[in-house]
Amino acid sequence: MPPIRHAVVLEVNLGTGRTAPREVPEEMLRRYLGGSGLAARMLYDELDPAVDPLAPESPLVVMNGLLTGSPVICCNKVCLCARSPLTGIWGESRAGGFFGAELARTGIMGIVFRGQAPQPVYLWVHDGQAELRPAGHVWGKDTFETAEMLRGETDAKAQVGAIGPAGERLVRFASVMFGGREARAAGRTGMGAVMGAKRLKAVVVRGKGRACEDATRTDTDKHGQMPVTQESPRPCVSVSVRVTPSQQHCLQVARPDELRAAMRAENPKARDDAGRLREFGTAGGLIVVEAAGDLPIKNWQLGSWTDQAKRIAPQTHFARTFKGHYACFGCPIRCGKTVRVPAHEDAGHGGPAHNAEIEGHAPEYETAAGFGPLLLNEDLDTVFAANELCNRYGLDTISTAAAVAFAFEAAERGLDLGGRLCPSPSGRGEGEGAFNGAGTQLGAKTPSPQPSPQGRGRTGGESLGLRWGDGQATLALIHQIARREGLGALLGEGVRRAADALGGEAPSFAMHTKGLEYPFHDPRAFISMAPDYATGSRGSCHLESFSYILGYGSPMPDFGIERGGVEPHDHGGAARIAVLMQNLMAAFDALGMCKFVARNGTGPSKLAHWLSLATGWEVSAEELMAAGERLFNLKRAYNLRCGVRGGDDRLPGRFLHLDRKTGGAAGSLPDMARLLPEYYALRGWDARGFPTPDTLRRLGLDEVAADLMALKAKIEDEDDDEDEDD
Ligand code: SF4
Repeated sequence: MPPIRHAVVLEVNLGTGRTAPREVPEEMLRRYLGGSGLAARMLYDELDPAVDPLAPESPLVVMNGLLTGSPVICCNKVCLCARSPLTGIWGESRAGGFFGAELARTGIMGIVFRGQAPQPVYLWVHDGQAELRPAGHVWGKDTFETAEMLRGETDAKAQVGAIGPAGERLVRFASVMFGGREARAAGRTGMGAVMGAKRLKAVVVRGKGRACEDATRTDTDKHGQMPVTQESPRPCVSVSVRVTPSQQHCLQVARPDELRAAMRAENPKARDDAGRLREFGTAGGLIVVEAAGDLPIKNWQLGSWTDQAKRIAPQTHFARTFKGHYACFGCPIRCGKTVRVPAHEDAGHGGPAHNAEIEGHAPEYETAAGFGPLLLNEDLDTVFAANELCNRYGLDTISTAAAVAFAFEAAERGLDLGGRLCPSPSGRGEGEGAFNGAGTQLGAKTPSPQPSPQGRGRTGGESLGLRWGDGQATLALIHQIARREGLGALLGEGVRRAADALGGEAPSFAMHTKGLEYPFHDPRAFISMAPDYATGSRGSCHLESFSYILGYGSPMPDFGIERGGVEPHDHGGAARIAVLMQNLMAAFDALGMCKFVARNGTGPSKLAHWLSLATGWEVSAEELMAAGERLFNLKRAYNLRCGVRGGDDRLPGRFLHLDRKTGGAAGSLPDMARLLPEYYALRGWDARGFPTPDTLRRLGLDEVAADLMALKAKIEDEDDDEDEDD
């Protein structure tokens, strides 16, 4: 079969209702691959730093990885990219499940949204058609109910990516949820708020073609084309766009027999290597993570939580909660787990934790770590309830938990939060009735924080019910954040803005880099994560290098790392690992591959081979790594144009100076004065954190080099002016 020639990306202007296909040539695909790589190229070209991320002019790109929907192992990711309303810099979030493969079956690789619809809409993509449809009837609904309703009116087998009430209300870390109750989340950097600002409630896709291996499609009309193109100046009226068979991005596997044989060898290996991940899911790591000193206990202040971690780990609770396994498209690892948690009363926490049975996706590691040890919360049922609430509201569980931890610590320190607490005694404010499905009771019956008779007489939140370990207060704050009520209005801005608003010592315990709340792997436990967090394209992101897996013993033979071969607290080689893994993971993100594939040592050699078999290109490991490096530098250039400077490449002081004394990482602190210059040198960046022109030209980014030289000259002029003023 012929190799890829091009891809089709749909351009949708929500303000005018105009929808049109755009071809992406093969040359561009080879340089930027797909997913967040192709999106980075598109968004860099369109970036106007003066435009607010939530303004209609700020584009949102929904893009499949180049291999999403292909037979290559675990290639199922769809990526959402835009300038982040949370951080003001590069925004990117990915979800697995089945949406990406379904989008691939429509013949469309991605969608670029611009403008703002006058009324809520959703996009229905099917059989080469795209229709904007009114969404007023699902506006205000939670993500589970929205998916059910939109499947009901489109196709029972359609895949839905939707925002919940949090995205509609522009909570800056609102997520986009895929698959309804399957709850695959594009959680980070506030892409849900971007959709909300555009009044785009959902994207619904259903394709009848095969994502791969079919050179021809059969779902054409009698003229051999997709349905007739129309354009309408009015949104909220069904408009359709034609994608002819020759325009479709339908990855036609160039060497299918060889690719099939490669996957027959790889899939069982990945399955057998998955071990605990396959049996208990990502949260099954809680016990070993705790032992490594990698848990974020009490807002990253403590080193040990051994017995409690065991209590909330699935190894303990699955006996009563486990319902089934879940695997995304094309995945032999099967890390997803579903649970059923009976309704119960939890008298020990002063009221019902929830009064409805929860049946759905189990909390992932990040969610369990956030609503458990980060908050000193041992009450498993409130962890389940927090997971359910965030998924329904469409909230990133990492940023939400971090915001609650910030509030608890502010209360403990006696900062004045009192005036910002929700005044409603019932906890049912503006958002009442937003949930109409099975989760209604969850929202309605959970109390708001109430003044405590045992308050210590301070004006702070602690006297009003915000205390470490209080699962009920956590649930109340989640409601408030999603509804932007009371203290939630402040916390929904993210911890950086919240800390700035509170002032005083608040910024010292707001755990973020570049405005993105920390995910729950500690750079004191894995030193290579320190330069990664400091320089990550979207801020503090654990998946941008994913290098902690090497500290846990994963091999990466392509980088000379054998199984168990990295000493996690060593500074030697840590910057190199961060650079190599960031480049590799940028390629993973552009290909649409789940990063858990890397746990067994899958690196650039294998990836390049599979990419060659799929596309017909002859891609070497070096070319693939160069593509990853190109993409990482392109996102860096995007961020520099958004105002990031070298001084922003830093970690919160707690990570640099607080030795927790106990646990697996006792005594370990990252030395950024050593790590960052090493990292910059390996990257080919100057002392200001700018990629040098030589670096960018080597990567074929000549025009980016010109942009950055102009920007740097401007900054130097401004610095000179300031010096003169002084
Ligand atoms: S390993 Fe887990 S997240 Fe990755 S593709 Fe498989 S089920 Fe999805």
